[in-house]
Amino acid sequence: MTQLLWLRSDLRVADNTALAAAMNAGPTIALYLITPAQWLAHDDAACKIDFWLRNLSVLSARLAALNVPLLVRRVEQWQAVPALMVDLCHQYKIDTVHINDECGVNEQRRDDATSEALRHTPTRLQRHLDQLLFAPGSVKTLAGDCFKVFSQFRKVCYSRLSHSLPRCLPVPASQSWMPVPSNPVPTTVEAFASPGDALRGYWPAGEEAAHKRLVWFAEHGLAEYQERRDFPAEPGTSQLSAYLAAGVISPRQCLHAALAMNQGELDSGNPGVVTWINELLWREFYKHILQGYPRVSMGRAFRSQTEALPWRHAPDELVAWQQGRTGFPIIDAAMRQLLATGWMHNRLRMVVAMFLSKNLLIDWREGERWFMRHLIDGDLAANNGGWQWSASTGTDSVPYFRLFNPLSQSAKFDPQGHYLRRWLPELAHLSNRDIHDPRAVSGLFGASGYPLPIVDLAASRERALSAFRNLGERL
Ligand code: FAD
Repeated sequence: MTQLLWLRSDLRVADNTALAAAMNAGPTIALYLITPAQWLAHDDAACKIDFWLRNLSVLSARLAALNVPLLVRRVEQWQAVPALMVDLCHQYKIDTVHINDECGVNEQRRDDATSEALRHTPTRLQRHLDQLLFAPGSVKTLAGDCFKVFSQFRKVCYSRLSHSLPRCLPVPASQSWMPVPSNPVPTTVEAFASPGDALRGYWPAGEEAAHKRLVWFAEHGLAEYQERRDFPAEPGTSQLSAYLAAGVISPRQCLHAALAMNQGELDSGNPGVVTWINELLWREFYKHILQGYPRVSMGRAFRSQTEALPWRHAPDELVAWQQGRTGFPIIDAAMRQLLATGWMHNRLRMVVAMFLSKNLLIDWREGERWFMRHLIDGDLAANNGGWQWSASTGTDSVPYFRLFNPLSQSAKFDPQGHYLRRWLPELAHLSNRDIHDPRAVSGLFGASGYPLPIVDLAASRERALSAFRNLGERL
């Protein structure tokens, strides 16, 4: 009774629900599908594809140690997956295909179509909950609706977790050798440029690297997370998002590591731990929103009234934002960090997103796409949720009149300018005061070639407020 583990965003052997179920049921073969056209259509970043392949390569060795062969196949689009699966299952006489469920409309269509195609064959498809603590759509209001407000969603999550904590599964015992040769994992896929060694160095591949990061953070960062999480110059957050998004580490492993530092307490005890667990629940929340309101993944605003906002067509300003040349150091440093590392600190994601969607009044969808194309942790639900939160078009989002001022955010969260100096060396010589707002010392042509601000903060704030106010009753 041969089993097939179809790997997707679950690139690990420890605490992998589908892997454990498959190996428990019989001799198991693993499969990974390279789907370049689909990845391009989803705006997946080149550095993220590289991260997946590097992790898959490490995983392949771990699977080999368990005697699980890894097949690697290529199809351009997910539409071709059902036919490929039927062929493969026939060729290897597969009894059951095991998958860890993925959120997202296209992902579910792909899996439904595969399940349907297999219905006419002896093979069955079995889905497992793995990517989340709670099955998307399973955390409901008393009336049976999807929550729209995070604090209420979180309350139900706490209550469910306090009654039963999901446990972590151990690495399965190795199986007997199977006469199926593994395929090599490609190191590149054309259409996705390889990132440089520096970027790769920030994100070492493999479960061991992810686990090390988790342990380091649990021991050195978690207790002070609440105080340090907003300061981008400090290693105040876990930097685990890329590993969580690719499933190199599981949310259960993260939750248990946090609880172990808090005597098992979920919502009391150390405020740092409680706040971090909250962030893991934000991750759950946005996946539930995606499941409950799939329109958000189809380019629609959660609050449909905001579709009437008069977004500006301002290609030069958009490019200045994308390339880190707006003349606002905190915006430019953050955008350059994104291009150089594939990652950006959460506080700055909010600041740059609000700057684009409010001060420049450029459609949040432009920013969402740019982030997705460059983030190593790009995740449809979290990215869409973060953008719609910042643009005040989403559920439980920031009120439209609460605009972050990039200058005061910069002075507050990078008071010594350490972060700015790291990413904007041309401003490194400025004082701790001037570096946040180099206009005072820049003269007509900017400081050392650094651009002058592309927008007036006060006027652009007023323009955004009046655009929202003009929605009038619809708001
Ligand atoms: P930590 O602070 O250590 O948090 C732990 C984990 O909790 C994170 O790794 C992440 O998985 C989850 N998490 C934390 N904050 C959030 C949040 N607000 N929403 C959802 N999950 C959260 N996160 C992504 O994983 N992928 C994205 O594509 C993404 N795009 C974003 C876009 C915008 C505009 C904004 C405002 C936020 C976005 N986030 C995204 C959320 C957040 O910025 C990142 O998860 C976080 O910066 C990752 O760093 P960390 O691992 O050190 O987080």
